[in-house]
Amino acid sequence: MNPIPIPPGMETRLFVLETDALKALPEAIRTLWGPNVRIWPVADGNTWRAAGSRVREILEQAGFECLPQYLFPAHPVIHASDVHVDELLAVFPENAVPVAVGSGTINDLVKRASGVKNVSYCCVPTAPSVDGYTSSGAALNMAGLKKTMPCPAPLAVVADIGVLQTAPAEMFAAGYADLMAKIPAGADWLVVDALGLEPIDPAVWELVQTPLRDNLSAPDDVRRVFLGLAATGYGMQLYRDSRPASGADHLISHIWEMENLEKDGEPVSHGFKVGLGTLAATALYETLFSMDPAEAQRLAAPGLSLPEREAEIDALLIRGCYGTEAKETALKKFLEGEALADRRAAIYAKWDELRELTRRQLFTFEELTSKLRAAHCPVKPAEINLTPEQFFHGLRAAQLIRKRYTVLDLTYELGLLDEILGRIEEKHLFF
Ligand SMILES: [Zn+2]
Repeated sequence: MNPIPIPPGMETRLFVLETDALKALPEAIRTLWGPNVRIWPVADGNTWRAAGSRVREILEQAGFECLPQYLFPAHPVIHASDVHVDELLAVFPENAVPVAVGSGTINDLVKRASGVKNVSYCCVPTAPSVDGYTSSGAALNMAGLKKTMPCPAPLAVVADIGVLQTAPAEMFAAGYADLMAKIPAGADWLVVDALGLEPIDPAVWELVQTPLRDNLSAPDDVRRVFLGLAATGYGMQLYRDSRPASGADHLISHIWEMENLEKDGEPVSHGFKVGLGTLAATALYETLFSMDPAEAQRLAAPGLSLPEREAEIDALLIRGCYGTEAKETALKKFLEGEALADRRAAIYAKWDELRELTRRQLFTFEELTSKLRAAHCPVKPAEINLTPEQFFHGLRAAQLIRKRYTVLDLTYELGLLDEILGRIEEKHLFF
């Protein structure tokens, strides 16, 4: 076992990423939990076949007592929702180490259930599909609202490259898209830092952004993509928030997630929705900063009154699937009158700096499209079953659901969101 060094300050204590890493499980478990613990494997029908049964075999051969595994069905694919966390909690054994064998959903369900039970767990990823393996917090659908629920990161992550390589090609592509999202998410953080709204944490920035371009340069290299995803998870552990990993790219995807976006009867993967969100965020930045401040001021729509904004929010949330807090969240960050004028003045004053910072951080829309294409990720909304209405609605509604300031707030507060979406439509970037 050759563990990969873990940055200081993490809840995760052991990270193994190598061929045949499953064979290192007994040593990993013994080191962190002791020789006499009982094991509780959790998987679904697919991931049990991919790695779960071998995990059980290897641990039993090494003398560990394994409780009967908890298996979610292989079909239909389960969503990461509180309902399934409750299922796990109902059968959660005492005095056992949960071992989550699966992709992002299984990991998030076990992470949250273990957190509720105040028990540490081991993660055995079966696909390089998300950045959540090494993060604290679990992205769950709680009674309809997509939320990051608090819970500690796994104590150990044992990732077998042989297993990751046999994951379906779509899951690999999804992980690449989730990693690519850190590019526009970084642009959002640069903007809020420059506007004095949320300073960049240099240690976290270094962890996530410094190796990012390198890890994105080889979409077929499972090790590199997984390392990039793991670094992002560590960034979230350290920052105690998902800001380092998620900006407008993710907020947009959350809207489609809460709408239960499906293709051919299966939920569209997190990464694929995020990939479209990444393209959308990039298009918003590029279109915004194709203007100069004088043009931006000339085209700015006047700010709304509170009742007008309420009506606008109600119309955007009319499907009613975005949870009870969305409207309140949106109203809390609504600026009017002098406050709005001040914000706009602050943005105009920093226009050139913001343009330069984001230009350096982002790939151009064209570069981004070709990189995602090369990694077999969808680049058109129709490829993930999004209609033009649902796509553009997602971009507008995503601004409402979180406090987090992104390019969506930037363009909305400037009174330019409609103008920019109109230009994006005219240029046929997506349809
Ligand atoms: Zn993600």
